[in-house]
Amino acid sequence: MARYTGPKCRYCRAEKTKLFLKGERCHTGKCPLAKKAGLPGKDPRARQKKMTDYGMQLREKQKLKRMYCMLEKQFKLTFNEAARVPGKTGENLIMLLERRLDNVVFRLHFANSRNQAAQLVNHGHIFVNGSRVSIPSYRLKPGDVVSVGPRGQKMILIKENLKEFTKSGAAPWLSLDPDTMKGTFLAVPRRADVTEAKDINEQLVVELYSR
Ligand code: SF4
Repeated sequence: MARYTGPKCRYCRAEKTKLFLKGERCHTGKCPLAKKAGLPGKDPRARQKKMTDYGMQLREKQKLKRMYCMLEKQFKLTFNEAARVPGKTGENLIMLLERRLDNVVFRLHFANSRNQAAQLVNHGHIFVNGSRVSIPSYRLKPGDVVSVGPRGQKMILIKENLKEFTKSGAAPWLSLDPDTMKGTFLAVPRRADVTEAKDINEQLVVELYSR
């Protein structure tokens, strides 16, 4: 399946929830959801449709998958892995998604969206424990140090993104030194810590894949 390259806000409007796909803009009044824009398209009947159980499960899966900018196959493989680990599968799934390198690069404010983070990783700008890693799905473990490589240190884009750190800080399970562009993945977050996904019911995703 090809990667979607159309307007990202369309996804949020369709799901009626913020998926935080456009960086800083998502936290401002420019976000269409902040302006209470309706569903994409103009068909008023779309608002009245009663959702089936399957429909609700599918929507929750799409929200989570789109929030972490993943394709279906990758997402399903991550789900299968979450199901093999002891504990609640839905929570395990979110923990595995949070451990992805592209997600951590985004959360450390090196990038302003997960898509941009994946691009920085793909282009070899990101190092883990001193070695270049160019795989966005690379899974971090507590104690891993994520840094920007020498070429990236000169990039205006990353410097601009890091200004956001001074405004909002890093997530509680990460630490960051913006001067050296070095961050540490301190611990795997708890489900309650992932506030961005607070409106997502991951149990419905489990039910969908258990059909
Ligand atoms: Fe667009 Fe971000 Fe708002 Fe979603 S959260 S509608 S991507 S601005």
